[in-house]
Amino acid sequence: MNFGSYFYNETCKTLKPIEEIEFVGDSLPYHDSVRHDIESEIGSTIPLHRVDIHEFYSVHTKEYLDSFIALSRGEDAEIQLSVECANLQYAIPGYEYSLGGVCKTIEMMKAGILDRAYCFSMPGHHAFPGKGHGYCALNAMAAGVRYAQSSGFKKILIADWDIHHGDGTQTIFENDENVHHISVHSAVDLYMSVVKSAELGTTAYADSVGQVNIPILDDFYTEDFFYNELGLRGNIYRGAESVQQFQAALDASCKPDLIMIFDGHDSHKEDCGRGTTKWEDEDFETLTKSVVDLSVKHNCPLLSMPGGGYNFHKAVELSLLHAKILKEYRV
Ligand SMILES: [Zn+2]
Repeated sequence: MNFGSYFYNETCKTLKPIEEIEFVGDSLPYHDSVRHDIESEIGSTIPLHRVDIHEFYSVHTKEYLDSFIALSRGEDAEIQLSVECANLQYAIPGYEYSLGGVCKTIEMMKAGILDRAYCFSMPGHHAFPGKGHGYCALNAMAAGVRYAQSSGFKKILIADWDIHHGDGTQTIFENDENVHHISVHSAVDLYMSVVKSAELGTTAYADSVGQVNIPILDDFYTEDFFYNELGLRGNIYRGAESVQQFQAALDASCKPDLIMIFDGHDSHKEDCGRGTTKWEDEDFETLTKSVVDLSVKHNCPLLSMPGGGYNFHKAVELSLLHAKILKEYRV
């Protein structure tokens, strides 16, 4: 069993000095600090690799990506990017190194050199084909899936346990019978706060596009609020059953040739998961081991990427725990 890691500072490289760019909230500088602390513990063993930004055409529309590139050159362009994504266009070199790392890892997995890997990229699961929000402008994981398909991996399973719904990734792979997307997330998130986006995270919507959602309702809300006031449909779950539901979804999933994890830590009870998943460190350990078990069962490689996590200390600690399991856990 061979494990590799990819946490180079180039994955957050910007076109001009970072101090000259106005990022919003916990955007690139925050994620770069988390990345830095993880790399100082586990290092990077997968060779640094850069692809051209146009490689993202595999998952984003030409209009969107061309506008994003135009903005990075200081040109005016119409683009659907929410305020948290402000100025991420200056991180184009970082996105090129991020996707480069994912592609290099997939090549090494295809060649049988690596079985498990943990690779940093700016989070991307809220990046849709033609819009971005929630600190996600470009979706490196989804573009990695497309690269993996072109390299001969047929069935790909994505496990996303970030507290926010992987709405961008789900949309990219809607009705794609070769990409199986499982997302566990808060059913009603104040940050996302639009009923339309909550709808994408329901079991009813996932069923209609061949994917799997496990929406967890915050203790604060009643079922009446979800069904009648918001008018949403499908099943909802509570935190206590969330891990079990996730494991059941893994058991029922396809026989993958490659598994990817969007390893978000904001679902911890000391982060945004406070009233919903309420996960403790042990729950992340259980989830990680469940996915590793599945990869061993199907004899397929496993590529994980850190997602959100806004309790700095916890985000680093849980990433290191995740990396240790990927590196050392034997089934
Ligand atoms: Zn999140």
